[in-house]
Amino acid sequence: MDAAAIASLREHFDVEADATLVDRPDALSALLAHADALIVRNRTQVSAALLDAAPRLVAVGRLGVGLDNIDLEACAQRDVRVLPATGANARAVAEYVIATALMLLRGAYRSSEAVAAGQWPRTALSNGREAAGSTLAVIGFGGIGQLVARLAGALGMRVCAFDPQVSADADCWQQCGARRVSFDEALRTADVLSVHVPLVESTRNLLGAAQFAALKPGAIVINTARGGVIDEAALADALRAGQAGGAALDVFADEPLRADSPLAHAPNLILTPHIAGLTVQSNERVSTLVAQRVTETLLSVVRNNIRSAV
Ligand code: NAD
Repeated sequence: MDAAAIASLREHFDVEADATLVDRPDALSALLAHADALIVRNRTQVSAALLDAAPRLVAVGRLGVGLDNIDLEACAQRDVRVLPATGANARAVAEYVIATALMLLRGAYRSSEAVAAGQWPRTALSNGREAAGSTLAVIGFGGIGQLVARLAGALGMRVCAFDPQVSADADCWQQCGARRVSFDEALRTADVLSVHVPLVESTRNLLGAAQFAALKPGAIVINTARGGVIDEAALADALRAGQAGGAALDVFADEPLRADSPLAHAPNLILTPHIAGLTVQSNERVSTLVAQRVTETLLSVVRNNIRSAV
C-alpha cells in the first residue's frame, strides 16, 4: 500500500502495515483478533475461517477490484463491508492490453538478442500486423473492458464486445465506439481477444479448446482478468498449432505459475506476474481510494455507536 495512504490512515487509527503478513497466517490471525478493518491485495484469502478470527471486523478494503479472494457471502453474513478500489487501476490494465496487443500483432520486438549478436532477421520479422483496421473483441464490457475499447478505438481498431449484462441501449456502446456482439461472433471476428470478466462459477474456463478452435486463425489472446477464466492447457495447444497467433497472460490458475505448466514452453507468449493493474500511479490511486473508503466506513460506525450510546 502506498506510504502516503498508510499515513492518512494513521491520522485516525492505529495501523499495522506489514506486507509480509500474507505469508504469516498466525501473525495475521493474532492481529485480526483486535482489528476493526483489514486491507488486502489479491493473495490474502479472506475466508470464513479468517473472518471468524476477526470478531470486531467492520470492513475489508481490497487494493484492487477482483473479489475472488474474498468470501463475499461470509462477509455479508457477518455484516462486514467489502470495499474495492473500483476503477482505480483500470488505466494500468488497459494500457497493458494495448501494449501487448501491439507487440503480439507486430511480432517483431523480441529481436534485440539476435540483432545485438549480428544477425539480421529482417525477412522473418517483416510480416507483422498493424492494429489499425484489426478487430479487437472484448469479453466483459465493464470498467476495464470499456477503457480498453476507447484506447483501441483511438488506434483505429474496430471494436466489438460481448457482455450479456450490459443492455443494448446502454450509452457505453456508443461512447466507447464498440459494437455489441454475441460470444460466438466475438470469437469468430477477433484479431485480438481480450478478457475482462470477473472469476465466478459461470466464467470458469469460459475459454477452452472449443472456443480457441472457433477463433480466427492467428488471433491474439490477452488475459488480464483471472487465470481460471482460461483453460491454460487448451491455450498452449492452440498456440503450438498456430490457431492462436500469440497470447499475453498476466494471471494464472496457480500463481506463481507452476514449473510444469503447459504454458511454460508454448510459443509467442508474453507472461507477466499479475502486474497489469500495478503502476506507480495506479498504486497511489488504489491506495488513496481504499484508505478513504475504509476511513469513511470506520468513522461512520464510530458515529453510529456514539449516537446509539446517547
Ligand atoms: P467490472 O465489474 O467493471 O466488469 C466486469 C464485466 O464482466 C461486467 O460488465 C459483467 O457484466 C461482465 N461479465 C460477467 N460475466 C460475464 C460473462 N460470462 N460473459 C461476458 N461478460 C461477463 O470489472 P473490471 O473493473 O472491468 O475488472 C474485470 C476483472 O479484471 C476483475 O474482476 C479482475 O478480476 C480483473 N483485474 C485484473 C487486474 C490485474 O492486475 N491483472 C487488475 C484489475 C482487474
